[in-house]
Amino acid sequence: MDILTVIEAKKRGYALSREQIDYFVQGAADGSLPDYQLAALLMAIRLNGMDARETAELTDAMARSGDMLSPEVGGVPVDKHSTGGVGDTTTLILAPLVAACGGKVLKMSGRGLGHTGGTIDKMESIPGMRVELPEEEFVAAVRKVGCAVVGQSAALAPADKRLYALRDVTATVDSVPLIASSILSKKFAGGARGIVLDVKTGSGALMNTLEGSVDLARAMVEIGTHAGRKIVAVVSGMEEPLGSHVGNALEVKEAIDVLSGRTGGPLLRVSLFLGAQMLLVSGLAETAAQGEKMLRAALDSGRGLCKLEKMIAVQGGDARVCRDLSLLPAAPLIRPIIAEESGYLARVNGTELGLAAQRMGAGRVRKEDVIDPAVGFVMEKRIGDAVRPGDTLCMLHARDEKSALEAEKRIRAALAFEAGPVPRARLLYALVTPDGVSHLSE
Ligand code: URA
Ligand code: CA
Repeated sequence: MDILTVIEAKKRGYALSREQIDYFVQGAADGSLPDYQLAALLMAIRLNGMDARETAELTDAMARSGDMLSPEVGGVPVDKHSTGGVGDTTTLILAPLVAACGGKVLKMSGRGLGHTGGTIDKMESIPGMRVELPEEEFVAAVRKVGCAVVGQSAALAPADKRLYALRDVTATVDSVPLIASSILSKKFAGGARGIVLDVKTGSGALMNTLEGSVDLARAMVEIGTHAGRKIVAVVSGMEEPLGSHVGNALEVKEAIDVLSGRTGGPLLRVSLFLGAQMLLVSGLAETAAQGEKMLRAALDSGRGLCKLEKMIAVQGGDARVCRDLSLLPAAPLIRPIIAEESGYLARVNGTELGLAAQRMGAGRVRKEDVIDPAVGFVMEKRIGDAVRPGDTLCMLHARDEKSALEAEKRIRAALAFEAGPVPRARLLYALVTPDGVSHLSE
């Protein structure tokens, strides 16, 4: 086998054989193939696609490129994964809520990527929090508390680590077979038996079209079902940040606000929808409605917040943040962006808002950049809201005036207004199960 034949085959649009797929995945994982040949192959895959058989085999090969865990957690190990969004803090809300309902949430999360935020970076804004737990400790935490959230260890799906980093810098991220294999290989290697996927669609998502997002959701549900997992995918809207807070400590604060019952809105709505699906695939609820009811009860009784406290403590963090938000890092400069005209907020460029936060220091521009946990912003208006001159559009939490000014420019440019009323952005578009696609209208 040689790599040129594999690249040549995909360049001409042929399906790759299992042997060809194993060969290049192995070469990606063990470092024997150079970046430029892998990059050429990734672009050929991006342009010519892969069929269902190839995508499933690619996923399997990537999962097997490292350790395969089969954790004993005293229940169905369940994981949830989002394709990436802005102000998308559902994990920190639903992991404790699902655990409070008896679920066993083994959450493997990522760091921020491009304009999107990452749960691992958010968690690190909690003083003392450890996100790299050895496997036994991670499993013990889930057994004891019901949930733990960790980063992907180097031993899990190493082929994905290499290919992902290359995709990020070769414009080959937005590909159904490449995203599906990337996400599912990590879930399979991590030992999840129940999987809930949140496929984002809209201006702040990796896939901007609804059609592309539904295709991706379908592909993943098919592969997961074939591999014997209980799996569903939700297609949800990312036309604007899901919560109002964007930035690492700010998003942790918003998750605590939600679990404390102080705020609700779209972030809670989507968290409950996803959480109910997690209870379903775990076999703990019989219907989604029953699942939501269980989650609501956990929220209202404060059991969800208690679980978050326990999870933070077991991962070495300062759990007092759950009752005292002043223990979270805070930015020195907090000031508003004021509306200059009247109208209705009609469109938001979610990617640009994500980039504004990234440039303030909430994300990385280069791989080696250190995150500033305190910075970001809080949106005071959502799509559909009326705006009058003098209203606060957004509250900036900046390191200094220079970065505040830069962010202000970017955020203003990302917001479009109209004179007359506009509808709110859709939150939930479709639910994809092994039985098919059902369209939602919320
Ligand atoms: N998240 C992943 O882990 N991989 C992708 O390709 C996209 C989102
Ligand atoms: Ca995009």
